[in-house]
Amino acid sequence: KAVVNSLSLKEGEETFRTHARLVRRYGAAVIVMAFDEDGQATTVERKLAIAQRAYRILTEEVGFPPEDVIFDPNVLTVATGIEEHDGYALAFFEAAHRIKEALPFAKVSGGISNVSFSFRGNNTVREAMHAAFLYHAIRAGLDMGIVNAGQLAVYEDVPKDLLARVEDVLLNRRPDATERLLAFADSVKKTGPAEAKTDAWRSGTVEQRLTHALVHGITDFVESDTEEARARLPRPLDVIEGPLMAGMNVVGDLFGAGKMFLPQVVKSARVMKRAVAYLEPYLQADKAAGASTSQGKVLLATVKGDVHDIGKNIVGVVLACNGYEVIDLGVMVSADRILKAAKEHAVDVVGLSGLITPSLEEMTHVARELERAGCAVPLLIGGATTSPVHTAVKIAPAYGRPVVHVHDASRAVGVASGLLGAEKAAFADANRKKQALLAGEYAQRAKKPLVPLAAARGRRPKIDWAAADLPTPSFTGVRVLADVPLDTLVPFIDWSPFFHAWELRGRYPRILEDPVLGDRAKELFADAQTLLARIVKDRLLSARGAYGFFPAASEGDDVVLFADEARTQQLATLHTLRQQMEKPEGQPLEALADYVAPLASRRRDHLGLFAVTTGIGADSLARSYEAAHDDYSAILVKALADRLAEAFAEMLHQRARADWGYGRHEALSHDELLREKYRGIRPAPGYPACPDHTEKGTLMTLLGGAEATGIALTESFAMSPAASVSGFYFAHPDAHYFAVGRLGLDQVEDYARRKGMSPEDAERWLAPNLGYEPARTAAPAAAVR
Ligand code: SAH
Repeated sequence: KAVVNSLSLKEGEETFRTHARLVRRYGAAVIVMAFDEDGQATTVERKLAIAQRAYRILTEEVGFPPEDVIFDPNVLTVATGIEEHDGYALAFFEAAHRIKEALPFAKVSGGISNVSFSFRGNNTVREAMHAAFLYHAIRAGLDMGIVNAGQLAVYEDVPKDLLARVEDVLLNRRPDATERLLAFADSVKKTGPAEAKTDAWRSGTVEQRLTHALVHGITDFVESDTEEARARLPRPLDVIEGPLMAGMNVVGDLFGAGKMFLPQVVKSARVMKRAVAYLEPYLQADKAAGASTSQGKVLLATVKGDVHDIGKNIVGVVLACNGYEVIDLGVMVSADRILKAAKEHAVDVVGLSGLITPSLEEMTHVARELERAGCAVPLLIGGATTSPVHTAVKIAPAYGRPVVHVHDASRAVGVASGLLGAEKAAFADANRKKQALLAGEYAQRAKKPLVPLAAARGRRPKIDWAAADLPTPSFTGVRVLADVPLDTLVPFIDWSPFFHAWELRGRYPRILEDPVLGDRAKELFADAQTLLARIVKDRLLSARGAYGFFPAASEGDDVVLFADEARTQQLATLHTLRQQMEKPEGQPLEALADYVAPLASRRRDHLGLFAVTTGIGADSLARSYEAAHDDYSAILVKALADRLAEAFAEMLHQRARADWGYGRHEALSHDELLREKYRGIRPAPGYPACPDHTEKGTLMTLLGGAEATGIALTESFAMSPAASVSGFYFAHPDAHYFAVGRLGLDQVEDYARRKGMSPEDAERWLAPNLGYEPARTAAPAAAVR
């Protein structure tokens, strides 16, 4: 959402209203500075009074939603030597607090570095002042601020003597605070405290050392430090519940405050696991070790038919880091097993994960089963195709307990503690209300009429087939690539999605220089490179795939593949789906089949197919890391395998374009290649242009099945190993990616007929795309699986 920075009452209410209306018209939020006709507000009372006045005008007259109003109560410079300025920081804190109290939903922001302006040139002191200011301001209610995030110290890391003097100034604790900070600043300038701090942490107490190791993910000394703590404490369990948990709490807090990021947290978990593993024999020996003081038990599973678990594993680690006991059932877990394990372990929460769209239906099925079994624990839903809307509309109604969509791993702890904490009733209530709202909006959208199938077909894109350039591939049939050297794939890797998998958002390589994420990104990238080099050198993964070309012709919305160039012997039929959403006049309603020459055109067109995997060996490699208590590397392995599979797909597509002829003289940069700036597309079944996963069955059979490709399909048509990619090659220059979107009953029935499927089955596979409420009761899951 855009935020306009900033408006004020400096020029009076009329100008303010005019500006505010304009901002509102663009849908932006707005920052209001604490200025009025009399100038800048420096006291708490004036800051609050101006905020109240602006709030009233914005929410009552201009129609701003209160949550779109952000107040900047002016961060003013302290330690200037002018006595009047001594209370400025305190006034900001107090004003932030009072504004949040008096003006519901409004937010507070500030330009932070202003506070330290009098220490220009002394970054050590400035960074310490910013860290401390933020610390106190956030506690007072600050929601956001402008600060050089690349130059931000962690509050806990500021040397205590410096911190004390900084806080004396900010909190106006003593009249000579400014002088004392100035004196300190001089000494800091001369000596520079940053040096010699690398190993200084080794001289702390054992508690401090363990905390430091956990926060910084250092495993080097963890066994000896753990032993030292164990020798000192009465029972081995005390080490876990004492210093180790204390350290993990620091990690949890820093993560919650946005001061640590996922890869670091996962590394912290590795330290924790190593410590616990060290203690294991002592814990066994200590029969008296009673129940642990966990925050709660969470059961995690990737649902039946699905094999993806990177996100789930990260969530597991993050929850474990925050004191939850995690029971992870792995991938392809049936509703039965989930139910049984939930009972057996008396868990407090069940979390379901899945990547592909059929998993959405399976999650609903699990919810129904939990309901039927009278299960009483909240349900978490996560994974790439899950959404707050789907959760609200399809899953939540199937289960009487709270069902919460978890957007990404960094939210998991907030949700779990919300669901299990003291305020759980309020949390569940807020979730229910939000879901009711989403369901209402969805129902509104679902009412939008669809174009009848026959009419939609009449609006297919117009292609002049007589004139179309249809090159002939250099071969037809299937070629198998049995063992592709991994180093040939590495140059084709697209690294940006790798960072996304770790919730570091940004584009590679720019992300390495990002002021906030850069250091973390660099560290993660270096770890990835090291592991990748090992994988390549020791051939720890193997790459395998198949691709081929077939004479093809479209027939309506289907693409028929033939065994011969004369196109008389049919091999198979692929079924595509057509858009039915209402579009402005002149815009086509597309189906992928439109990009293959119709039989009637008598032109000789072709279609390509491919399936590749680099996941062979990934699971056992990941397991070996897990066995060594190294979840970080285990997750890295899977994320790298995914990258290699996508790289393989990109490499093979390039080869296929050359085989097909039209790509032989392509000259694209690496970046253009990754942005798919070439002719033709490789739509993947299950993606928006071809959302039906079951088409993968035909595709795999044509390519020679698991034997040729190394890939098996689950009952939900997920590819196993997880690091696999498949799709169709379309060569026509007009072919492009689109989304089929919502489907009418007419098309679903037609599609079912073409596929020789019952309409109920078609509705089940196309569930996420149905533009209507299916009247038929879906066949019981067990019967069709
Ligand atoms: N460089 C990326 C490539 C994967 S995403 C990576 O390394 O992760 C792009 C791929 O997703 C496309 O090549 C295509 O196979 C698939 N895709 C994207 N949009 C699609 C759509 N609308 N319909 C079908 N497939 C689509």
